[in-house]
Amino acid sequence: MTSATVRVPAKINLCLGVGPVRDDGFHPLATVYQALDLHDEIRASLDETGTLSVVTHATEEERADVPEGMDNLALQAAALLREETGVEAGAEVAIRKVIPVAGGLAGGSADAAATLVACNEIWGTGLSRHDLEPLAAELGSDVPFLLHGGNAIGGGRGETVSPVLARGSYHWVLAVAEQGLSTASVYAEFDRLTEGREVADPEISDTLLGALRSGDAELLGLALSNDLTEAALSLRPELQSTLNLGREAEALGAIISGSGPTCLFLAQDEEHSLDIAIALAGAGACADVVQARGPVPGVRFV
Ligand code: ATP
Repeated sequence: MTSATVRVPAKINLCLGVGPVRDDGFHPLATVYQALDLHDEIRASLDETGTLSVVTHATEEERADVPEGMDNLALQAAALLREETGVEAGAEVAIRKVIPVAGGLAGGSADAAATLVACNEIWGTGLSRHDLEPLAAELGSDVPFLLHGGNAIGGGRGETVSPVLARGSYHWVLAVAEQGLSTASVYAEFDRLTEGREVADPEISDTLLGALRSGDAELLGLALSNDLTEAALSLRPELQSTLNLGREAEALGAIISGSGPTCLFLAQDEEHSLDIAIALAGAGACADVVQARGPVPGVRFV
């Protein structure tokens, strides 16, 4: 096996409860993840000279935002796996980018999860998904979830994941902003806004879990929540009008995805999802409008 190709989904947070900053600088999270059928594709090819390299296939604009070399999370994943397993071979990692960059959809984390799986294959290191989890957690809070996908509860700083019993397939519309938003700056704004306020330990709402268990899209729409909303809107006030547009189009729920700036709308069905997409695109409220379904599995071989 000299090369392996995998696909990896984007993630959204159906709820994102954020607690007070911890001593290590991270915030405790209580979240429910869902993986969406918006996939990056990663091809890892064996490099016998021992070099690790990355090449990104995307629009010119997006490529400018995806780091080259070791700043790319995919290469950090390859380097970590190599360090842990003592492999000497290298890899060329080719990324076909579909997940919007810095959009609150964990695109970089997705590429890291995908690279762990693809390099594990070409290097014959034989680790199970379970064995890859601690490496994934070291790479980033969202990375372990993307190994598995589906619906899952995330605790700790997001890295401890447990699957959620759920039924149903959900129709989402994503309003992708022209410019990404740095996750670190949104958390810094959250800290600034909550300074002097009592920030409760985050919890997951029973209503949301009940909605997933019964596959009730209307109830799920009402239960969507994101504690980073105020911070993201403080940095990007214009997102409020995007959220309002989706609500006017009768979305079952409208929230900011993760740390933003992507706005997320839950639709009743395919037709309604198209209505919302048309309303958003017609108003010119965002750079791109994407329809997606969830949940879908995590990293998969192509
Ligand atoms: P987070 O996972 O922190 O919520 P996000 O989903 O908002 O982040 P990403 O698409 O992961 O955003 O990009 C965040 C930053 O990570 C980018 O601005 C970029 O500098 C860096 N990055 C590193 N590797 C990658 C990669 N493979 N794809 C995209 N961005 C990457």
